Amino acid sequence: MRPTVRGLDLDPQTRCAHYHSRQDVIAIKMWCCGEYFACRACHDALADHPAALWPHEAWNEGAVLCGVCDSELSVRAYLAGDSTCPACGAAFNPGCKTHRHLYFNPTDPPQP
Ligand SMILES: [Zn+2]
Ligand SMILES: [Zn+2]
Ligand SMILES: [Zn+2]
Repeated sequence: MRPTVRGLDLDPQTRCAHYHSRQDVIAIKMWCCGEYFACRACHDALADHPAALWPHEAWNEGAVLCGVCDSELSVRAYLAGDSTCPACGAAFNPGCKTHRHLYFNPTDPPQP
């Protein structure tokens, strides 16, 4: 069953008001609240807290949802993949990866 996905003007395949091309079918779980959003801008519009990035040590956890077949990919699998869903073959927008810094922190923050 699909986890709850939040977003502005969300469609059944998780496109949103910001990203709504045919290929914009992934939702991303935010590290801060553990909730799926269609995109970071949807999180920032709807959540009542600042976004937090996935720490590198959690990159094996499910964080990317295919809006076509509801499979979850880990951060690592998503970033290492070729922007297609390994379960159903749906094409993801390759441009999403250029926004990876909005979701995934490649390095651990320095300890205070
Ligand atoms: Zn959040
Ligand atoms: Zn959005
Ligand atoms: Zn899929």
